Amino acid sequence: CGIVGYTGFRDAYDVVINGLRRLEYRGYDSAGVILETEKGEFEVKKTKGKVDDLVAISKSLQSTSKIGMGHTRWATHGVPSDNNSHPHVSNNGKIAIVHNGIIENYDTIKTMLINKNFEFKSETDTEVLVNLIQYFMDKEPTLDFPEAVRYALNEVYGAYAVSVMHEDFPGQLVVARLGSPLAVGIGTDEYFVASDASPFVEFTKEAVYLEEGHMAIISLDSGIDIRTITENTKIEPAIQELKLNLEQ
Ligand code: GLU
Repeated sequence: CGIVGYTGFRDAYDVVINGLRRLEYRGYDSAGVILETEKGEFEVKKTKGKVDDLVAISKSLQSTSKIGMGHTRWATHGVPSDNNSHPHVSNNGKIAIVHNGIIENYDTIKTMLINKNFEFKSETDTEVLVNLIQYFMDKEPTLDFPEAVRYALNEVYGAYAVSVMHEDFPGQLVVARLGSPLAVGIGTDEYFVASDASPFVEFTKEAVYLEEGHMAIISLDSGIDIRTITENTKIEPAIQELKLNLEQ
């Protein structure tokens, strides 16, 4: 299971796919990719199987975008299938998530959302989280996207590394970690997100390993903004120099 994200000047498709290949050693049953096109629309491709299977159905996305995310899934909730693969997109089509880990209380939240007329296409715990983010934004239309992610994360129990994007907040990656690792690679005019540094070590040696209970809002305009998930307290990024052997 693994997560990759990218925003910068390179072809996001290539960075994400090559990054997923570097995370293959972690084990997985499905793979997916999402890009935000220059028109500001999401393009999602996902499939049960290997990264090669994903490439076979997604090559048309090459050279279409400079921002995107990818995922390799190790199924915990719902069988390995195309529908259960990540990314998952919210009911209004605007919010997309990739997630490693488990949302323990997804059932209670899913029931609440179904009562509010949300529909679900997968059996995953993850699809509940992305719709909970939409729920908070529907309820409070002036809410900033990262703040909605934070609200949702404060409602869930479990373990997660997540990366989230919103069509109406182009150029932003919102990432968070509790119980699953997540690293942010800091380049010149580019940022990488990954479960470990192996997807980006060829591009930059500067990284921030997100700490437990922290989230980061990443964009080319504003850089990296780290906050605590519970209190929204700003944290100075602790940038580390990667060693060639990838030891943390
Ligand atoms: N719990 C999620 C699922 O079953 C994520 C699994 C993972 O870590 O890849 O889809």
